[in-house]
Amino acid sequence: MAMIVAFGEMLIDFVPDVAGVSLAESKGFIKAPGGAPANVACAITKLGGKSAFVGKFGDDEFGHMLVNILKQNSVNTDGVCFDKEARTALAFVTLKQNGEREFMFYRNPSADMLLKESELNLNLIKQAKIFHYGSISLISEPCRSAHMAAMKAAKSAGVLLSYDPNVRLPLWPSADAAREGIKSIWKEADFIKVSDEEVEFLTKGNAEKEETVLSLWHDKLKLLLVTDGPKGCRYYTKSFKGKVAGYSVKTVDTTGAGDAFVGSFLTSVAKDPSIFENEGKLKEALAFSNACGAICTTQKGAIPALPTTNDAQALLKSK
Ligand code: ATP
Repeated sequence: MAMIVAFGEMLIDFVPDVAGVSLAESKGFIKAPGGAPANVACAITKLGGKSAFVGKFGDDEFGHMLVNILKQNSVNTDGVCFDKEARTALAFVTLKQNGEREFMFYRNPSADMLLKESELNLNLIKQAKIFHYGSISLISEPCRSAHMAAMKAAKSAGVLLSYDPNVRLPLWPSADAAREGIKSIWKEADFIKVSDEEVEFLTKGNAEKEETVLSLWHDKLKLLLVTDGPKGCRYYTKSFKGKVAGYSVKTVDTTGAGDAFVGSFLTSVAKDPSIFENEGKLKEALAFSNACGAICTTQKGAIPALPTTNDAQALLKSK
């Protein structure tokens, strides 16, 4: 089975135990493992695929707890390392009544930001079919250089590059720095997934307009996907474009929906890379990914809410 390597951060989200309560008012917090690349790695294995996570943790209780969660989810951890001094990243996350999130990060610097090029397991990366990453690992050194080196190694080994920027503005020095940093590696990716909100942030345009989305196209791109929350997603390739409708479910928490969607899509690509050129197969994979994203919103947290193949098939059949 083809391996998908997810690179970047894994952290603990501390979420108020009562939805809609502010961080200051909350009496209790629930620990929720998070970090988009780690969620994607777990989404893949939950669907029966093969994944590895490459990143750095503090050599502390939380770091070891997170690595154990990866292992329990059958994610390969041969690319994981620990920092003796820096702590594992934490974030306090408020879940508003509508299920959307607001973040307060504790990273000063956290261990994930201190991953060095020399600590990369390049063999693992070069053996992958897909190398998936976000943009948080680009924010500061030495992790930025490690990210660039990992991408370069993957590319030279013929590994497909997958990019979900996952904009987290509070982590960047400014909105302009975020836009510039995220776009600095734009043209390397074979496949890019952005949300409608991210399209608006990156382009300063209206995400509903095709010309706005297409301003994000680059010549070597095989597929650009725009996710539209409950509405589903839009796809753009050199030869065809279209929409795939989402599923109506009882949403309680949208955390991880995008990662469940991406994990599912990459699992399909790893099985059959020809879906980039075959519109029928692409639409089928995207309908399945929409179902995975939708199911993920029906439970609190990201990793515990990730669907199995049977869960997603049951939702597809019910509609
Ligand atoms: P995240 O919340 O993980 O950052 P995102 O912003 O990257 O997600 P979204 O567009 O919110 O991406 O969600 C990804 C996919 O998940 C959507 O394309 C859709 O298929 C599904 N999805 C998201 N929210 C809902 C919802 N409320 N109801 C049904 N499906 C949803």
